[in-house]
Amino acid sequence: MSPPKFNDWGLEGHIADAIDSMGWDEPTEIQLEAIPVARAGTDIVGQARTGSGKTAAFGIPIIESCKPSGKTQALVLCPTRELAVQVAEEIGALQGNKGLTIETVYGGTDIDKQAKLLDRGVDLIVGTPGRVIDMSKRGHIHLSEIGIFCLDEADRMLDMGFFPDVLWVVEKMTNRRQTMLFSATFPQEVLDASIEFTKDPFHVMSEDLEVEVPEIDQFAIKVGRLNKMWALGRIISNMGGEDQMLIFTNTKRMVDMLYERLERHGVKSSSLHGDMPQNRRERILERFRDKKSRIMVATDVAARGLDVDGITHVVNYDLPDETEVYVHRIGRTGRMGRSGQSWSFVGGTEMGLLDKIANTWGMSIPVVDAPELPEGGKEMAKLKDDWDEISDSFGMVKVKLSLGKGKASKLTLADWIQKEARIPEVAIGEINIGESESTVEVHMKKASYVIDVLKSREFNGISLQPSILN
Ligand code: ADP
Ligand code: MG
Repeated sequence: MSPPKFNDWGLEGHIADAIDSMGWDEPTEIQLEAIPVARAGTDIVGQARTGSGKTAAFGIPIIESCKPSGKTQALVLCPTRELAVQVAEEIGALQGNKGLTIETVYGGTDIDKQAKLLDRGVDLIVGTPGRVIDMSKRGHIHLSEIGIFCLDEADRMLDMGFFPDVLWVVEKMTNRRQTMLFSATFPQEVLDASIEFTKDPFHVMSEDLEVEVPEIDQFAIKVGRLNKMWALGRIISNMGGEDQMLIFTNTKRMVDMLYERLERHGVKSSSLHGDMPQNRRERILERFRDKKSRIMVATDVAARGLDVDGITHVVNYDLPDETEVYVHRIGRTGRMGRSGQSWSFVGGTEMGLLDKIANTWGMSIPVVDAPELPEGGKEMAKLKDDWDEISDSFGMVKVKLSLGKGKASKLTLADWIQKEARIPEVAIGEINIGESESTVEVHMKKASYVIDVLKSREFNGISLQPSILN
């Protein structure tokens, strides 16, 4: 049997033409399963990995159900403004010449202007809950007219942050006849919550996994705060000319700081977080999409749903606290089957969190060394001794010496080091004398000094070749 084509469905002409001109040939899995069911008017709970074409899976049936009439017939809610813009654009492209008026409704834009646009009549609204509620209260959106309701990134829309808002909207949509929820992940709580406002929904769930993890080469580098710039520099210097990188930090402040630091190191980037004015956010994203900027530093406003084709590298400069956020972040690369890689910076105390992330989703995230500098490359930042990272909870660092059994006793070695380096007894911890090598614990405050001293002395004619054991 030949693979199914969009043509087989007898879609409305405008949409068929639009799909043609977009160069799409075959529907994706989720589209294949969801579109026929949605066209029949059935409620849907659809789960498929990021980048699998969920927007068109609900967009196509919504467009088919709407008429250019100026009455609002469908509402799509998204968690972020950026996503609302993107979804509206995709639906706009998919409707071809059908002539539906599609309006985005989200905060941070001029309320009066928005009200005027809405009052002129719109067929389809894509928005974020806060502003949609606001405009409904002001009488510019008539929720009771709307028949089709869709939640994109439903897991986020139904978590504690948005759930009350979504319920408010749902309750006002008294003539709602179809509800669709789409998301990359459907945790049980979200499925439970969805029961409250769907009617015998058709479930499209991929495979046995609750979430599909995109096929991305994932790596972690064990590195503390002090050396994250160094590690980032190594990854950046290995990027190809066409590559694009999205770097995530956990706070807005860190976005600004990292952006400035990159600037100081001569690396051009752009930055994105929720405190920036909306029009600036859009401009920045547009430039990134157009590949006018290669590197973008962002908070999790960019973690969900954003579809930027060219992203080849995702860096978790800060590891996210929530395992789901990790999956959303790395899903920004490897879109539509393209290859992608993700790098996560993990401090010593975060190894447990990394394990948890990997285990939750059944992924392997090997801890590797930072990539080598390419031929002729230059370090972006210097690698520093990060004592906080390599010391234990008592502040002790292990120093390796090439000194084997029979050459010294623990006591003579300790005495000798104390005397040569003139350090107090408490600065030396446990000593271990092995077959050919020994280790000595030294307090981190003295470690680099002790190493320097030992490098220039001989112990009973033996050169100790001290180095830090990481
Ligand atoms: P998701 O919401 O599942 O993360 P998107 O809807 O953002 O994914 O789609 C990802 C990309 O794939 C978009 O650029 C979209 O235009 C494109 N796309 C969607 N469906 C198809 C298709 N059937 N054939 C080719 N490209 C598609
Ligand atoms: Mg999406």
